[in-house]
Amino acid sequence: MRPGIFTRMMIGYLAILIPLAAVSAYTFSRFSAFRAATDEILHADQRLKDLVQAVGESIISQTGFDRKYIITGDREYFFQFERMESEISSMLAEAMTTVRNDEKKEMVERIYDAYGAYKDVFYEEASYVENKDEYLPDAFRVKKEVLTDGVLLELRNLRMMTERETFEKVEILGDSVSEATKMVAVIVAGCVVLGIIISVLVTRSITIPLSIMRRKTRRIARGDFDGGLEISAPPEICDLARDFNSMCDKLQEADKIKSDFFSLMAHELRTPLASIREGTNLLLNNRGEDFRENQTRVLRIITEESNRLTDLVNSLLDLSKMEAGMLSLKREKFDIGSLILKAVSGMEPLAMTKNIGISWQVPQALPQVSADEERLLQALRNLIGNAVKFTPEGGRIVITARPCDGGVEVSVADSGHGIPPEDLEVIFDKFRQSAMTNFSTIKGTGLGLAIVKHIITAHGGRIWATSEAGRGSIFTFQLPS
Ligand code: ADP
Repeated sequence: MRPGIFTRMMIGYLAILIPLAAVSAYTFSRFSAFRAATDEILHADQRLKDLVQAVGESIISQTGFDRKYIITGDREYFFQFERMESEISSMLAEAMTTVRNDEKKEMVERIYDAYGAYKDVFYEEASYVENKDEYLPDAFRVKKEVLTDGVLLELRNLRMMTERETFEKVEILGDSVSEATKMVAVIVAGCVVLGIIISVLVTRSITIPLSIMRRKTRRIARGDFDGGLEISAPPEICDLARDFNSMCDKLQEADKIKSDFFSLMAHELRTPLASIREGTNLLLNNRGEDFRENQTRVLRIITEESNRLTDLVNSLLDLSKMEAGMLSLKREKFDIGSLILKAVSGMEPLAMTKNIGISWQVPQALPQVSADEERLLQALRNLIGNAVKFTPEGGRIVITARPCDGGVEVSVADSGHGIPPEDLEVIFDKFRQSAMTNFSTIKGTGLGLAIVKHIITAHGGRIWATSEAGRGSIFTFQLPS
């Protein structure tokens, strides 16, 4: 199944949105990494450098207190030494937690060890000074100098390594930023191109069939109603094309009905007019013996033809009035049984000319209907008239009335040639006639049933026909009471 316009649009949007979401996620993760790296440079590395600097300075001033105490034996310098020791130890402990790589950790450990050894040498010497014992101060001085130089050297190395690492990190950070920027630019450009391609495809899948239909519409405007629109497009447009084709079929049909109507009307008007013209000519020229006898016959023909013309014009006027919604009904409550009898008695003389028997089954207790009596009589006459017209000589017509759900049902059944099933619906449309009807012998305009249907539906009722080929037709209508 082809995807619809909505699905196509959604696929288009998703094709753009999914890569964009991926780009956003990637950018977000890169930026988090950059922020972590920047944090490390700004805080951890800087803090380590500050600690290294402070430890170095503290050790230098501690060696000052060391020398002063050894020379003077003043306890105050000893306490100063101790204070510096606790400061340095806590700074080294912090440095240990700040460093992240093993090499630097080992350096800090070595500083720890060397500093510890220096302190031990100092406290040993201090106990000699305290107890005023004999000892070799030069040997202690050299030992302490070697240890503090070692500590300061390690501190310098640690500082240089931290600076080098900071530099490398900044470099890597710069590379990653430009790489991420390139990646984002490529993906965004890809999304834009993809978006454009998908939009163009979706738009074309709609505009191409639409322009085909526009060309077709122009052809229709020029009077070419041939449908046959075959397009491959989204289902909505295919549905539209299908409707378009059925509209073309309807237009073709309407066009045919129109031309049929004109030829039918031309024929229906010309035949009685020709009879009337011939008749009047006869009357004007006939001065013979049998003038009186001919005059009566010709005048009867002229009257019949004039009546046919009047009926035709009246039917046309009635139908156009009904179609314009201008059918006004004078509703009254009355007994439909007596109306049926009136319609039958009006039609009986015509039926007798064809030796057709009309019978009726109308129960006494029928509910009254509220309807326009004149219009209903017109409908009944039309149905009975058709039954007489389409039933061969010696046939039978039965009119039945019975109460039905909420009203009255009336049917007119005949023993005529019947109506094919495919025509049962269409005969109620104007100018539509059954293919079974032999129009060389039977005259008609295709207006009667359209008028009957209008009358019945205007009363809130419905009408339908059933038929069996060769076994007659039944026209039934229901009216609300
Ligand atoms: P008309 O009779 O003037 O042609 P109608 O609208 O009354 O117009 O009828 C339309 C068509 O329906 C008729 O031409 C005929 O083909 C068919 N039809 C109507 N009534 C009957 C009937 N009782 N038996 C057979 N065909 C009928």
